[in-house]
Amino acid sequence: MISKIIAEDKIQQVKKLIDRHDKIVIVTHTSPDGDAIGSSLGLFHFLDEIDKQVSLIVPNEFPDFLRWMKGANDVVVYDKYTEFAQQLIDEAEVIFCLDFNGRKRISTMEASIVNAKAKKVMVDHHPYPEDFCDVTISYPQVSSTGELIFRLICRLGQFESINLASAEALYTAMMTDTGAFTYNSDNPEIYTIISELMKLGVKKDTIYQHVYHNYSADRMKLMGFSLSEKLKIYPELHTAIISLSKEELAKYNAKRGDTEGFVNIPFSISGIKCSVFFREDEDKIKISFRSKGNLAVNRISTDYFGGGGHTNAAGGEFFGTMDEAIALFEKVMPHYLAL
Ligand code: 5GP
Ligand code: MN
Repeated sequence: MISKIIAEDKIQQVKKLIDRHDKIVIVTHTSPDGDAIGSSLGLFHFLDEIDKQVSLIVPNEFPDFLRWMKGANDVVVYDKYTEFAQQLIDEAEVIFCLDFNGRKRISTMEASIVNAKAKKVMVDHHPYPEDFCDVTISYPQVSSTGELIFRLICRLGQFESINLASAEALYTAMMTDTGAFTYNSDNPEIYTIISELMKLGVKKDTIYQHVYHNYSADRMKLMGFSLSEKLKIYPELHTAIISLSKEELAKYNAKRGDTEGFVNIPFSISGIKCSVFFREDEDKIKISFRSKGNLAVNRISTDYFGGGGHTNAAGGEFFGTMDEAIALFEKVMPHYLAL
């Protein structure tokens, strides 16, 4: 038995919405990651199994290493098929907002979702959820939104309707948001859930290979370059940073998702408590923060880099040059280390 984390009144509210309505849309955050796509497809296949008319809409494209998932080709990309996506949103009776806690996280879809007439349900694990949904299921202590979706479906009494496609997607969500169960994954119940998913037919070793053994040689070379030429260590701050310019990314033919995971590599170095990855995008510097223990990188991100996230994993952005972004980080970091 797994414990009842989600409050009973929330379960009842979701149950009512699902029982009474047919047209359901699922949305998740911009630059969707494994948990965003995995939790969304997990819910998608479940709702499809119980004969709901369900669509999954994402603001922009997701990385190739998630393409193998069943249903990935049915995902509607809002920025590409705006009119069709808008029609689905207009007709929806219920909208599930998965793996994000604030309206800014869906960028171009923000107004469309906030103004939609549908009842909205947030299922998420980021702290400080904004109040824009009718039902807010937010539990930051949970490993991933995928885990929350599993818990939600079970509490609806519908475990039997988790088909293999749903189980695979939920497993992928949990695996990717915990670095293949190497952080944020000390709750023993995670492994009870994995066991249940495996009994449904999930082949976890195969999924690991689909996700982590699916990159290009260029990506590996970019990683090598990043570590040998671009890694900077601040021993007194127990911090490491890596930065990559547009030109450097282009030189290695970097594709969407290619720098995923780079931020975690410096933790292999003894004594590193904080790792930051700076990537130059078209019009801004995108920043990923990771930390160990009590060092709250989401505070650095919120205070200075217009972002947010979890205590140990956050993201943000900076409008200016790479040097300015790094200089700002160097200036403010000592304060957060001392907290
Ligand atoms: P990543 O570094 O993998 O892109 O993101 C790490 C965490 O920070 C994720 O939980 C993600 O949701 C959050 N995050 C990433 N970028 C942003 C951002 O621009 N704004 C906010 N609020 N959160 C972000
Ligand atoms: Mn997540």
